[in-house]
Amino acid sequence: MLTKTKIYLSSPHMGGNEQKFVNDAFETNWIAPLGPNVNGFEDDIKSYLGAQNEVAVLSSGTASIHLALELIGVSKGDEVLCQSFTFSASANPIMYLGATPVFIDSEKDTWNMSPELLEIAIKDRIEKNKKPKAIVVVHLYGMPYKANEINAIAEKYNIAVVEDSAEALGSTYHDKACGTLSDFGILSFNGNKIITTSGGGALITKTKVLKDKAVFLSTQARDDAPHYQHSHVGYNYRMSNVLAGIGRGQMEVLNDRVSARRANYEFYKKHLSGFNTIELVDEPAGSYSNRWITCIKTDSFETREKIRLTLLEDDIESRPLWKPMHTQPIFKDCLHFSDGTSEDLFEKGLCLPSGSNLTNDDLNRILEIINNTPNL
Ligand SMILES: *Cc1c(COP(=O)(O)O)cnc(C)c1O
Repeated sequence: MLTKTKIYLSSPHMGGNEQKFVNDAFETNWIAPLGPNVNGFEDDIKSYLGAQNEVAVLSSGTASIHLALELIGVSKGDEVLCQSFTFSASANPIMYLGATPVFIDSEKDTWNMSPELLEIAIKDRIEKNKKPKAIVVVHLYGMPYKANEINAIAEKYNIAVVEDSAEALGSTYHDKACGTLSDFGILSFNGNKIITTSGGGALITKTKVLKDKAVFLSTQARDDAPHYQHSHVGYNYRMSNVLAGIGRGQMEVLNDRVSARRANYEFYKKHLSGFNTIELVDEPAGSYSNRWITCIKTDSFETREKIRLTLLEDDIESRPLWKPMHTQPIFKDCLHFSDGTSEDLFEKGLCLPSGSNLTNDDLNRILEIINNTPNL
């Protein structure tokens, strides 16, 4: 009997040269959180994003957000505005610092932070003598947020912006790379992202001084002395030279990975737009999405579940969209400025398999299952 293989939402996709860089690390005995692959991976990312940016590779995207907020000076008792429609890792580092997240809902066209609600929230918090210390905003599923609008508001009130670009390496906004659009950018190389080091991340800064500070904090904050001397709390957040080797190999194929993910989106768009119960999101003018995950919005929770469960029966993984942070048990007491947009998306939306390693047979199999879902 033929057994069908499982289709994953987004799985690692090696290019071929990763192992060579990893072998280099072994051959030279650079099995440490420093070495030629760490420097090489940083240079590769820098030349991809544009030379005016500085890059520090770290142990995760979450660690990168933590250090960005620390460099901004977020501390106990501060409020930080955060996109509600996101993965919890956008918000958790706010808690690590003893600060309080205030959640902002999404707009309908990009599914990212609503500039209108952001400004309403800032005015409200300033009026109550609680001026926010930072804004964490996310290019969700690879779709750029409206950076011009968000940055203009942030500048007007003089609040620093952390750009969570964990899902958006390879996306651009008015021809500028996502991750470079604000004060601090962060990337993730977790196993499910567009390229991976198995686990890892990067902090993108505008100056070498800030990059050096991030590296200092990420390597236990050692002062310049022959013994171990510390005048600051440090972290063990630097990326391993072994994993950076995987990253160097992955950077060689990043453009192919973006093309493959965009082709998945085009396939779904072409074949699913005939259903009046299914919508896909187009790119607004000036935005170019890496289409990390192709998402659909259906007409109801019931339709969404019907598609998800029919796919599951055939061993095909799909997943509801992110559950908004302001509805998560851990953040239920946090203030939020919401108008129902992200709750509606959570109820009706579904992430479809989107890996760059999906074959045409895989895509056709997924399509056939969706086409055969009763009463769509
Ligand atoms: C993956 C992800 C992160 C966290 O990155 P890690 O490398 O897994 O720590 C943060 N924000 C968003 C939106 C993500 O998708």
